[in-house]
Amino acid sequence: MDKLEKQPCPACGNKTLTLTEDVREIPYFGNAYLFSMNCIHCKYALSDVEAEIPKDPSRYTFEITKEDDMKVRVVKSSTATVKIPILKLTMEPGPSSIGFISNIEGLLDRTKQVIEHERDTSEEDEVKTTAKNLLKKIWKIKLGDIQCKIIIEDPSGNSAIISEKAKIEKLKKWLYQIFSKSHNFIITNQNKK
Ligand SMILES: [Zn+2]
Repeated sequence: MDKLEKQPCPACGNKTLTLTEDVREIPYFGNAYLFSMNCIHCKYALSDVEAEIPKDPSRYTFEITKEDDMKVRVVKSSTATVKIPILKLTMEPGPSSIGFISNIEGLLDRTKQVIEHERDTSEEDEVKTTAKNLLKKIWKIKLGDIQCKIIIEDPSGNSAIISEKAKIEKLKKWLYQIFSKSHNFIITNQNKK
């Protein structure tokens, strides 16, 4: 792992930023480079992942049907859109969106954290109730009691769901332009309405 310390932080300007680069070998994907920035002063953090061999813009669709599916590898870059229709959740790319290498469980845990935050900080009872219901659903999905579709669309081709069960479709080139114009990392929770 390569490390560069005491770099200027883009958020606070102090020379307290650490840059790291790591490479991971992922079966059926190849080498993936993992980049990250961390500021010890202001806690600014960003990470991304890039495939050594660029792939076509793709959409991966994976259906969780059993507990064992939690172990399926997931590579998600910062340009990917993640959709979980059953939870009415969409995570869109933007400047603060991050890339990571994880598995289906890790991906669900990240959405869980966002929903938990909503449950704990919202002042509306309705939002709290919706959040609690979603958390129950995630728990059942993890046990394989509820089937759940996960869709990852990435115009950069740097994302993947590594499973024979995953359906892979090519994304159209023009979609890339639309995707690269999105600016904010938004988690839209349509359940709120
Ligand atoms: Zn900083």
